[in-house]
Order: sequence, then structure tokens, then C-alpha cells
Amino acid sequence: MPLGELEAFLARWGKERYRARQIFRWIYRRFAEDFSAMTDLSKGFREALSGECRVSSPPVGKTDVSGDGTEKTLFRLEDGEAVESVLIPEEDRRTLCISSQAGCALRCGFCATGAAGFRRNMTSAEIVHQACFAAKRLAERGERLTNVVFMGMGEPLENPDEVARTIGILMSPFGFGLSGKRITVSTAGVIPGMLALAEAYPVSFAVSINAPRDDLRSKVMPINRKYPLKDLVAAMKRIPLRSGRKVTAEYVLLAGVNDSPRDAGDLARLLRGSRVKVNLIPFNAHGEGEFASPSPAAADRFREVLLSAGIQTITRERRGADIRAACGQLRGKYPLSPRRVVPILGGTKISGNER
Ligand code: SAH
Repeated sequence: MPLGELEAFLARWGKERYRARQIFRWIYRRFAEDFSAMTDLSKGFREALSGECRVSSPPVGKTDVSGDGTEKTLFRLEDGEAVESVLIPEEDRRTLCISSQAGCALRCGFCATGAAGFRRNMTSAEIVHQACFAAKRLAERGERLTNVVFMGMGEPLENPDEVARTIGILMSPFGFGLSGKRITVSTAGVIPGMLALAEAYPVSFAVSINAPRDDLRSKVMPINRKYPLKDLVAAMKRIPLRSGRKVTAEYVLLAGVNDSPRDAGDLARLLRGSRVKVNLIPFNAHGEGEFASPSPAAADRFREVLLSAGIQTITRERRGADIRAACGQLRGKYPLSPRRVVPILGGTKISGNER
């Protein structure tokens, strides 16, 4: 629960508001997994809490460590589903890439998560637990979690309510205390969810553009039929931005598919007049589908076209590929079972600005 929700919950028991803050500190600062450890609460209160509530901490599977320091952790959820998160150490940052759904319904042709189909939405407890696990691991080394990106498994804006509750906890000064600048929600382009979340929280957004024309984008990202590029770019312009900030446009480079100079030119035209920076992501292989990564020369040429159009562009460094932790490689290790048919879009009701 975000802080406000927990306060309301405890108020029904006649408890003061600061009790919620105490519980937050125990869970998110001291990583307590049991109410009995919360020694500044009365014994009776702790027992009452244990009777009705749980600090959920799903069993953690193994952690693989990449040669470049990236760590991928498998979480087995209580109903047997599995998700992964990836901790990416950089010089001054410790970025956690988290999952928001077990599987994904969007079926983008280049992504391993989509290939396995949709399983279910994660709860905020399950989503935030990935951050607790990483923060605890970092604390043991005297380090802190500095950034969270919703770029793991799933489409966060297909699970908008639980993602919003998680963001409330990540941003709470009694939770993880992360500013919105340090939280990035990456979306395949679920427009209503994106606009609703942008209203509720000053988080950063990354939008997976991935193709500069509707015909091509619809082929690799079926969601484009519902939210085509023109509407998507218009919606990106409506995201409120603090001064100097930009929306990230992600672009997976697929050799021979969307990586030509013409594609780069079309992308530059599409993004003209938007406050964006482009993140190029050379395709990461995962043994499914027929895509390939472009040559470094093709990636550089693509970048040059955007740069000469005045668009800030970086090529994302590949991290954790040796442990299948790179973008698009996460799938969780649940056995593949028959695909369930699910509606592509969920609700977009997002509750208010919980801090
Ligand atoms: N569903 C969200 C977040 C998860 S994907 C979204 O679509 O944005 C995070 C990023 O990885 C997206 O930009 C996606 O386009 C990219 N991606 C997916 N598969 C990839 C692959 N095989 N190689 C490189 N990037 C990939």
C-alpha cells in the first residue's frame, strides 16, 4: 500500500498517521519482512497486524551475475508465475529494471517476453518487492538504489493501478525517496494510461517508437493498430515536463527492417518539434523470431542522421547479454503453456497523488 492508503487502513483501527510512517521505515529502510520485528510498535498492535496483514516477500530464485556486473534475479510468485528484474551498476548509478506483469499481451515481434504470452498482472506488493530485494542487496555493500526503470517484463500501462501504487511507494520519502526524475516508465504506447499516469506523478517516460511509419510499426508492434504513431507523438507532447527534461523515444534497431538512413530520416521528421531524446537499442537476440542486430556501422549511421537533425541521440550500451538480462531478453523461467487469450487493453483508472 502507498502511504496514504496505509494511513487510511490504520485509521480504521484508530491508529495515528505516524504509525504508517513507522511501518514504511521498517519495510523500505530496514527491510523487515515480519511485523514482529517492528519493535517501536506495541506488542498488541504487532499481533493485530500479523493477524490481518502480511509484508509480502515472494520467494527469490537465483541471481545470475554478468561479466559486466549486471545482476538478474528470478522471482517466483506465489501462484507459480515467475518474473525477472535486472540491477545495472553504472559509475554513479544503481539502476533497477523491474517487471510489472508476468508475461505480456502485446506480442511485439522482437521481444522474448511477448513471445511467451500474457500470464497475469503483478500486484504492487510483488512489483515493489523487486526494489526491496535490490535495495537490501545494495545496502549490504554500502550502496543505494538510485534509479528504477519499468523496462522489465510486461507493459506497465496495461497494469496502471498497481504500477501507480508502486510509484507512490518508490517516491515516498518514507519509502524509497526517489524523485520522479529517477523513475522511468517505459511503454509500448498505451496512450490513455500514459497521460493518466503523467497527470498523477512527475515520473519520466520512455516510449518505444521502434518504427517511423505506421505500416512497419503495426507489423512489429500490433498495439500500433490501436494507437498509431500520429496519436502517440501527439500524446508525448502532452506529457508535462519540468524545464530541461525530455521524453525518451526508444528505438530498437532491427537489421534490414528499420535501420536504414531513410528510416532514420523518417524518424527525425516524426519527432520534429517534440522535446525528446532518442535511445537507440541494437536488437538483442533471444532465440526467437527472425530479427538480427545491426552492424555497429549501421547503428552509427542511423545515429548520425538523427544528430544532424538536431535530435539528442544515444546508443544504449548493451548490458547483461551473457546472462540474458539485456532489453527484450527477459521471460521468466516458467514453462511455456498454451497462450491465454486476453484483451489487449486494461483499464486506465489511476488513483491520485499518493505520497
Ligand atoms: N513494455 C514496455 C517496457 C518493456 S520493454 C515497452 O514496450 O516499452 C523495454 C524496451 O526494450 C522497449 O523499448 C522495447 O522496445 C525494447 N526491446 C524489446 N525487445 C528487445 C530486443 N530483443 N532487443 C532490444 N530491445 C528490445
